[in-house]
Amino acid sequence: MDIYDSVIELAKRRGFLWNSFEIYGGTAGFYDYGPLGAMLKRRIENIWRDIYVINEGYYEIEVPTIGIEDVFVASGHVGGFSDPLTECGKCHESFRADHLVEDFASNPDTLTRDELSIIIKENNIRCPDCGGELGGVYEFNLMFSTSIGPGSKRIGYLRPETAQGMFVDFPRLLRFYREKLPFGVTQIGKAYRNEISPRQGIIRLREFTQAEAEIFVDPRDKSHPRFDSIRDYTLSLYSDHNQSSGQDQVGMSLGNAVDQGIIAHQFLAYALAMTHQFLMRVGVSPERLRFRQHMKDEMAHYAIDCWDAEILSDRFGWVEIVGIADRTDYDLNAHSRVSKTDLSVYVEYDEPRIVEKVAVKPDMGKIGPAFKGKAKAVMDALKSLDAVNLSNPSSNKMISIQVDGEQVDIPPDMYKVQQVTETIHGENIVPHVIEPSFGIDRIIYAVLEHAFREEEVQGEDEMRGKDDVKGEDEGRIVLGLKSEVAPVQAAVLPLLTRKELIGPARDIESALKKKGVMVAYDDSGTIGRRYRRNDEIGTPYSITVDYDTLEDGTVTIRDRDSMKQVRSPIDTIADTVHDLVYNHTRFEDAGTPIE
Ligand code: AMP
Repeated sequence: MDIYDSVIELAKRRGFLWNSFEIYGGTAGFYDYGPLGAMLKRRIENIWRDIYVINEGYYEIEVPTIGIEDVFVASGHVGGFSDPLTECGKCHESFRADHLVEDFASNPDTLTRDELSIIIKENNIRCPDCGGELGGVYEFNLMFSTSIGPGSKRIGYLRPETAQGMFVDFPRLLRFYREKLPFGVTQIGKAYRNEISPRQGIIRLREFTQAEAEIFVDPRDKSHPRFDSIRDYTLSLYSDHNQSSGQDQVGMSLGNAVDQGIIAHQFLAYALAMTHQFLMRVGVSPERLRFRQHMKDEMAHYAIDCWDAEILSDRFGWVEIVGIADRTDYDLNAHSRVSKTDLSVYVEYDEPRIVEKVAVKPDMGKIGPAFKGKAKAVMDALKSLDAVNLSNPSSNKMISIQVDGEQVDIPPDMYKVQQVTETIHGENIVPHVIEPSFGIDRIIYAVLEHAFREEEVQGEDEMRGKDDVKGEDEGRIVLGLKSEVAPVQAAVLPLLTRKELIGPARDIESALKKKGVMVAYDDSGTIGRRYRRNDEIGTPYSITVDYDTLEDGTVTIRDRDSMKQVRSPIDTIADTVHDLVYNHTRFEDAGTPIE
């Protein structure tokens, strides 16, 4: 049993994660979050909101998880969102071809179908399940399709990422943000990918949760207004160069990384810093986290620079949990083309610019009488012509233009082509998009694995002089979750099930609930067993009510990680525990230590 098995066993047993549809035998790629898992997930999502929505000011929107076909034709998902599939001729199981050739090729995800087929054949790679012969490789589109309305008239797709909904809303968002760049928008929600053979628990799901931010920036200036606040922030960077020259990741400040051209620009570096701050706050281990740059042949063709936050897992090695990319103007241009909607922003120059240009000057005296009611439309159409082609003297001839859908001929005596000086105040640009894309389920797995530990413990409860915990000092399983994400934030434990202890314990429970602290009251079993139960689910603090409480009005607070205990006044216990959970006070300052 490796750590993965232990973590999943604990997660199932204690109500964090369950296989979906279990009573029907389950299906790969779907997981339920049980009571504790759903609470953990919500807390992690809310910390993400605290960083991106509240602190960065990128408002959250919510759009349908089903998208119409046009959206995914424009985004390129209908045409190209696929993985290479090979099927066993004997047992008919399907496999990701690029995964099967991992031992035979250094960069399998860049290979074509044909190249993959050849590698499988030449190396006699067989079905991992039954040893049967594998068939030719073909592309399998990962989108789940559906039909919208009765009669299957209209194709729809379950969105494979939350991003597209934010691009599609761009004109509305632009207005919401009063037409000023940069601005950002966020979304947390489900995404669906019909993964070929998901065998990695919640690392590879068919329905998963993404938290994405789309930050629209001016392509001419990707400096970040608050870059100085993170200039000295040091991250473990595994650059394209380090990978291709066989070096490991190195710790480097973001200021240096941008100055040396390792990270493309400040906006992207800032996104890396935000990602790191979030992952630290939810409890990813800093020693098991790195930022890996996409190699040139791995990066999407339209992207300028991409970095993945990767965590080290015991069973799967380095796993991508967040993708951070500069996607340029690709998405907005694609949607603009297909929807025939202008998705540009008018940006005003700091100083107006004077430009010399050739322009068509309509002769109003002649056009007015000739075209009457249409004269204004004719003049506007003439003025908007590209005059460069007309400036050639030989072009001074009849021009044919479209006016209100009608072809109109303008003779040469009704216009002049001439050099003019113009003052220009701004221009229309299509913003570039910086996108951090978080896989919440993978982050949850990372948090669970990095928090999981098994410890040898000697006689914790003897420290308090209680003798009802025999057999429980051999060891303990601890989920060392950050107190801010722990599903249950405090346990209230009367030492014995006696009325005089239950009363004050219930009062503490109510006081904590009033403060918004998720509390579990537990009076069954020995105190040692109750501590262990709470250690396993990551409850950071346990409050014990005993006979001393009745004498001196204090209770014991036990810290999960150090197992140290302090005595703290019962009157202020709810505030004290609330402050401990949200890191406003240190455990040492929460009461008088018990030696
Ligand atoms: P991508 O759009 O492929 O870059 O994915 C963005 C993030 O979503 C990744 O960093 C993962 O954390 C997460 N993700 C992608 N595919 C899956 C999946 N099948 N199951 C769970 N998480 C996923």
